[in-house]
Amino acid sequence: MYGWGGTILKAYLSDGNVVKDPLNLEFAKGFLGGRGFNSKIIYDDFDPVVTNPFSPKNIAAIGPGSLCGNTLSASRVCVSVARSPITGVFGDANLGSYFGGELKWAGYDSIVFYGKSKDLVYLQIEDDHVELKDAGHLKGKLVSETDAILKEEMNDHDARVIAIGPAGENLVAGAIPLEVHRAAGACGTGAVLGSKNLKAVVVRGTKGAKIARPNELKEAFKKVHKKLLSGPHYPMFSTYGSSALLDLFNEGGMLPTYNWQDREVKGVEQTYSTALKEKYGVKMVACLGCAVHCEHYYEVKEGPYATRGAGAEYEVTCGFGPRAGGVQLDAILYINTLLDDLGLDVVQVSNWLNTLRHWWQDGLIDETDTDGLIFTWGDYEHTIEALKRLAYRKGNFGNQLAGNIISFAQYIARKKGIPLEKLTRYVIQIKGMTQSSGDNRLMGIGAALSHGTSTRGSDHLRGVNTDLWLQQEKPEDIWGIPREVAQHFLDLGLSDPNRYEGKEEYVAFMEDYCAVADSLGICKRHTAWEGMAIGLEEMAEYFNAVTGLNYSWQDLRKCGTRIYTVERAMQARLGLRRKDDYPPIRFFEESVPTGPQKGAVLDRKKYDNLLTRYYKHRGWTNEGIPTEKTLKELGLQDIAGDLKKRKVLKVKK
Ligand code: SF4
Repeated sequence: MYGWGGTILKAYLSDGNVVKDPLNLEFAKGFLGGRGFNSKIIYDDFDPVVTNPFSPKNIAAIGPGSLCGNTLSASRVCVSVARSPITGVFGDANLGSYFGGELKWAGYDSIVFYGKSKDLVYLQIEDDHVELKDAGHLKGKLVSETDAILKEEMNDHDARVIAIGPAGENLVAGAIPLEVHRAAGACGTGAVLGSKNLKAVVVRGTKGAKIARPNELKEAFKKVHKKLLSGPHYPMFSTYGSSALLDLFNEGGMLPTYNWQDREVKGVEQTYSTALKEKYGVKMVACLGCAVHCEHYYEVKEGPYATRGAGAEYEVTCGFGPRAGGVQLDAILYINTLLDDLGLDVVQVSNWLNTLRHWWQDGLIDETDTDGLIFTWGDYEHTIEALKRLAYRKGNFGNQLAGNIISFAQYIARKKGIPLEKLTRYVIQIKGMTQSSGDNRLMGIGAALSHGTSTRGSDHLRGVNTDLWLQQEKPEDIWGIPREVAQHFLDLGLSDPNRYEGKEEYVAFMEDYCAVADSLGICKRHTAWEGMAIGLEEMAEYFNAVTGLNYSWQDLRKCGTRIYTVERAMQARLGLRRKDDYPPIRFFEESVPTGPQKGAVLDRKKYDNLLTRYYKHRGWTNEGIPTEKTLKELGLQDIAGDLKKRKVLKVKK
């Protein structure tokens, strides 16, 4: 079998057994790898009557993309869980770095975890040797400590580790697994691994990737590499990383500040990527085989926030900078290292703390609700203490917040007699998942719909990041999208970011596109998602050279549609419906207060109509459930039967 490793590992944690199942080639051809494999395996194996995310009956899967371990920047691993502690439904998260390639080189396409270990364990993989081992000595260790200890124990510093930190062990809803500095952010998958008493997976693979047509791959690589480096945003990301978005957004009046209340914050230039690079940047670093190297390795040499680490993406500089009303870059870098070590998700916890600041500003909470901590805008001292209390569930405040910001709102509502809706209105979230640092009122209507309909809750990574990439006159200037599709989008007038009509087609296309990229293991920072060069055509060339198949880009897209539909069916089976597909209420009711787009606000009626058109375009019911016909066209008869059996779909008499 070319491309894939050929084996699915099934780890039964309750009895310590690990079983190797041969990968079914027909399954692989239909679901590609990574996210696609995980989604279908979880759909098939999870019993939806189980409601508690921390039940031993929850399932977690870790799968590398099918192109992982090859020369293209394809290193991404998807970590999925049947029920997320943040959204309560299916969730997943991607991470880049090196682990995915190593897992492929050991010969594995997915690891599925069932049950719960009695004691803390880790999974060790050395090619064919797979063993669950005692992790008692790793209890309470930081992610970086766990990484160092396991490599030392294997006497192999080329081994790759993904681990949870104290937050995952303590079942904090915002906990995530990481490979040192690379995070599988979103959905609290680290807490589910913690609930299974699984501390880490360490892998060393020496078999290499099996390539069907190596010469073809070499030629494809040369072509794609050249295209990638000539892409419009390559210089920015390779020099300044994603933190450059903060500079761009601020200068375009699009930066969310003070929990999306404003556009400005005094001294914001102190958080610019140029300041980061000049004052604290050591070098740029990359995931396996990546020519973009978008990550800073940074060092704060002295002072109370002395630290070193890697990453410093836009989400941390904005989430703990302007969105928190602050501009102290050394403190933000300190927080970045701290979050990576504790195993906490920057997007979720920055939102949680910024919501607390917003409540504090409006007099809804005080020190009696936070064990004495103060939540003013621009504070760093109490923020750092709050993160530690959260990760260790310290005190009543740390313990209450660990459930997530919605459960904390419920606690405050009960305690103070405040109507719950009054508190939750402040939380910028969809399906319980809080939002990254974009603004649904400013990034384009496609991006707003894409966030709303995302299968894992509010998410800029699931489809359209921003409609601004379509603001072109010629299709060849729209990067990463097949020429005929780009022309069609221009013909529909989609270059207007504020247009509602036709955006359903753009969103469905990009959702399928992202499902393909995640399942092949390709970083979306190379693709049309980020206005970059690698598109479905290039992905198909790569996929064919590696696997020996002959897929067109349309074939790949159909796989993306299938994967997205499985996820949608899974969420429908768990109870999600139309009402769960709307952007945060504030974006419909509060307009942008300042800047060049002052007054921008979403229109509920137009959004509602767009949602209806989107469901129709997808072949879903008006409640957002894939119809029997749609499921059958995608070869998902089994899911159609399951949804009918469970009365999610009506049975025709
Ligand atoms: S662009 Fe950045 S995140 Fe993506 S693979 Fe390269 S280094 Fe990793």
